[in-house]
Amino acid sequence: MLALATTWLFASSAAFPDAPRIDAPLVFDELRPASGYGAIIPFEPRGQVNLDRVWWTAPRAETVKQLGERFGVPAEEMRALDPSFIGPRVRAGQRVLVYRHDARTPSRSVGAPNRGRIEHAAPFPEGSGWRLRAYRPRAWATRHVVGELVSAIGEWRERFPTAQPVLIGELSRRDGGRVRPHRSHRSGRDVDIGYVLLAPPAAHKFTVATPHTLDAAATWALVQQLLASGSVESIFMAARVQVQLLPHALPHVDPARLRSVFSVLATDPRARKRAILRPWGGHDDHMHVRFACTDADIRCGAADRRRSKKKRKKGRAKRR
Ligand SMILES: [Zn+2]
Repeated sequence: MLALATTWLFASSAAFPDAPRIDAPLVFDELRPASGYGAIIPFEPRGQVNLDRVWWTAPRAETVKQLGERFGVPAEEMRALDPSFIGPRVRAGQRVLVYRHDARTPSRSVGAPNRGRIEHAAPFPEGSGWRLRAYRPRAWATRHVVGELVSAIGEWRERFPTAQPVLIGELSRRDGGRVRPHRSHRSGRDVDIGYVLLAPPAAHKFTVATPHTLDAAATWALVQQLLASGSVESIFMAARVQVQLLPHALPHVDPARLRSVFSVLATDPRARKRAILRPWGGHDDHMHVRFACTDADIRCGAADRRRSKKKRKKGRAKRR
């Protein structure tokens, strides 16, 4: 008899209604032939992503100063993070420590997405299910957002191991603040993610989602995984993309829930604005995921209100 160690397998049956329901840890004490549900479920340990120490790969040979600009981390700080990191230049492929977690300095979002900033941001790590740009001064977010997104993509990847990796676009600057040409992306809660495509992307460039380019089943599964995290506030997505995802959602999701998710199914303009997937601007070649505030964040949205009050006053003064 071949004894296997206890395998803890977690599956979200809410996110994937047709997945086998697994409510308790499964214990296999012997191998049985794989035949339908109840047989051995292949278990592969997930590629671990370390969020306590994040290493990025230098994409080309260049000076440490140039690399600092590419990564949004001053060269002196990179040297302080890793004392073994010496010399005036880096070589292509060299791994460089860009972040070391310090529990004494909480990572948090301050203010609204279009007015705020971040304290102690974390860099989005490199991983197998996604691709980061080589130029990364805007690849930072709160530690909570980075953790939730890495986890969601990791879970999704287990269900779609052969899907194309997604392109990660803009997050925020290390300290937050203005990210041109965006109005938001300032407080570490906004992330641009390319749709899952049928073919590998030729370059780090978003591709418009059409029936010929979009892997709609895998994209819908990624959206489900993000929603299942419970951490997402809204996702900006063009109506024409939502329509392509609908056939994959319709058979499995309760109609009321569907209407609260897809703005294209909303019956009135107010419901459309409240839907989680909302068309806003373009968003036909990527989705903009906004994560909700946590208790650790400060004045989430408050800056918006302060600004509008000030604006109203200014407006009144002008009219007078
Ligand atoms: Zn965006």
